[in-house]
This record gives sequence, structure tokens and C-alpha cells, in this order.
Amino acid sequence: MGDPLLSVRDLHIQFDTEDGTVRAVDGVSFDVEPGETVCLVGESGSGKTVACESITKLIPTPPGEITGGEVDFDGENLAALSSRELEAYRGCRIGHVFQNPQGALDPVYTVGDQLVEAIRLHRDVPKSVARERAIELLDRVGIGDVEERIDDYPHQFSGGMKQRVVIAMALACDPDLLIADEPTTALDVTIQAQVLRLLDDLQDERGMAMVFVTHDLGVVAEIADRVVVMYAGKVMETGDVYQVFENPSHPYTEALLASIPDPDPRKRGDAVELTGDVPDPSNPPAGCSFHPRCPHVVPPAAYDFPEGSFRQVLDFRLAAENGDVDAEALDDGTDVRAEFDLPRALPDPDAEAVLAAAVDDAVAGDVDAAADRLREAFATVCEQREPELQETGTGHPAACHLHDAGEKDPAPGLTQPHD
Ligand code: SF4
Repeated sequence: MGDPLLSVRDLHIQFDTEDGTVRAVDGVSFDVEPGETVCLVGESGSGKTVACESITKLIPTPPGEITGGEVDFDGENLAALSSRELEAYRGCRIGHVFQNPQGALDPVYTVGDQLVEAIRLHRDVPKSVARERAIELLDRVGIGDVEERIDDYPHQFSGGMKQRVVIAMALACDPDLLIADEPTTALDVTIQAQVLRLLDDLQDERGMAMVFVTHDLGVVAEIADRVVVMYAGKVMETGDVYQVFENPSHPYTEALLASIPDPDPRKRGDAVELTGDVPDPSNPPAGCSFHPRCPHVVPPAAYDFPEGSFRQVLDFRLAAENGDVDAEALDDGTDVRAEFDLPRALPDPDAEAVLAAAVDDAVAGDVDAAADRLREAFATVCEQREPELQETGTGHPAACHLHDAGEKDPAPGLTQPHD
């Protein structure tokens, strides 16, 4: 590999909000080689859009602020440049395509005028030359009857066509890097496939690199060379898309992959269900931010928990801590274990004694005592210590304590990329 075109290093971005400081991006690093497609993937709130917008400092400041890290683009640290200095990059060497094409186009100007303006903003050419270039671009992105349609207004175009216009605007100055933030999410499935194919073709044609933001691993499989899986502002796993899909090394990636619908009915039902929501960014969980949802959360070493049992016990504790156990509704007759999906009995007698005492606490109306008892006895490394991004034996790094002792057998690939 040569020098990357884009190198994001230990990027930290925070927002001051009424609810406190939100660390939207917390130590994110990734590289993009010339001509390569890197997908940032994760659920809403994972920080992928903020990370992308910060490449050319498009985040609103305030309330947002880049508090640390570097964004090295072709040898220049963009994070250290002023807005004025960044004009030489935005829309010129670095193009942007956003999720909502409606918001990217001005309704009172024709698409032709907007394209001509975008071209002339960065190139000193007469209007007639810019118009020729606009026609060429619109033709290339698949707008039919360009000579007529170039003088139409945005409202005269369908959603898919508007997104093609926005892509044409992003390509106006032949960028070296295209940042595409969920560019197909607002489109129906057929149009989505067309736009993805178009981006792929344009990239091959122009040798341009692309950072593509999506929550959809099906799309990643279509277009990515490498993938960066983000959760709660951090990188959970990153690597070559084939490696990550075939041997996911992080439980979050595994769960995202399992959520891709499989047309083979025999494979349905094997999915690892991802329950719960992404954490409140103003109050993230301690340790591994995924531990409140992780199906493989590491049990305390002092006890012998059967597969899955510790997750059930931890869910009960978290429900008690979060006020989701109504003490008044529990009485001597309540089957707490059935109500909260707890194991009937744990095979380890010491662990069972702790759980039984916590259940008794809850039935007696002291939910806090139940939570305290479980927290003290069953502390997990996953909430005590934040895992570092580390090599995993599968050839790519992940941030998960399961790899501290090399004890995880990576799950087999659930979907083959580039099928
Ligand atoms: S560190 Fe623990 S909670 Fe986090 S992903 Fe790994 S096993 Fe799950």
C-alpha cells in the first residue's frame, strides 16, 4: 500500500448540548487509499455522519467542536485549516453527496444554473463552457434529454433524478475523494440500486476514492473495499470487507450482519437478535459502550455461567438500575424469573445463591438492593474497562475483550460481499 489519500487519526468531536457534552466521535481513525471505497457503517447515532462532515469541517461550530486528532488529506492537515482555506478542498478536491437531495438543491434556481455556479465557483471558465460541462455531467449521471431538462427546476425531477443531479454537482470539479453520506437511503430500492451502480461506474472511470456512510450492510457488500464499523462514536472493528464479512470479530458487527435478510429460509432463525437502542451519547455506558446490548458479554471469571445466562442476569440488573422493575407490582406470588426471562436455576451453586438472593430482594420490594447485589457479585470486565482496538487473529482489528485472551471463535461469514 502507498500513502493514503485521506488519513483520519484519533479524531475527537464533541457537541455542547442542554443535556451536557456529547462526545459524538471519540478517537476515530481510518485511512482511505486513492481509488478505494471505505464504508463507515453503524446504526443512527454511531457518529459516522459527524466523522464524515468533520473531514472538511462541515459540522456546525458551535455547538460542535473538533477537540483532537488530525485529518490528513494528501499531506495537508485539514483539521488545522480555516474555513476560508478549506474552500480550496470543499466541492473541489473533495465532493459531497448528502442523504437528502431535496435539501442540497435550491428550489428557486434551475438545475443547470446550480451546476454552472458550482463549476464556476472553482474554475475560471466562461458561462458557456461551464454549461457545456454541466450538460456533459448530467448526461453522464443518466439524466435523459439533457438539453431540455437542464433548464428545469428541482421540483420537476423525481427523487432519484434529484440525487443524480446532486452527484453531478459533487463531480463537477473531478474530485479526488467523494464523501457520500447515506446517498441512497431516501430512495426506493430500484433507484437505490441504480445510484449505487452509477457511483461504482463513476469511481472506476475517474479513479476517485470514496467514503460511503450507510447503516445498511447489504449496501456495504455491494460497494466497499474496506469497512469501518462504528458504535457510539468509536470504531468497533475495521478491515477488508471480505475478511470482516467472513470472520466478524466484534459482536456488534456479527449482529449487524445477522440482520441482513437471507433469502434462504433454512438460514432464517440463526440470527443474533440485536435488542435495545444505541446509548444516550450524553451519558454513555462505562467500559465497552456495547455491553448493555451485547449477546456475548463476558461473565465474571469467578463463576461458571452457561452460554447466554449471564446476559439474562445482566439484563435483569440493568432493568432494576434503570427503574424498569416495578417493586410495587411484585409480591410473594410473582414469578420474577419468568417475568424477567431469568434462568430457572444457575448450575454454579455460588452464582445461583447470589441470583436467588437478588430475586428475593426484588420480591421484598427492594429493587435497589437486588441491583447492588448483582453488580457487586457479577462485575464484568466489559463494563469495567474500555476495550482497545487490537489485532484479533482474524487478520483485522476489533475492540472487544473477547480477544484479550484470544478466546473468541469468529462467527462464520453470514453474507458474502460482492455476490
Ligand atoms: S467487550 Fe464485552 S460487551 Fe463489548 S463487545 Fe466485547 S464481549 Fe461484548
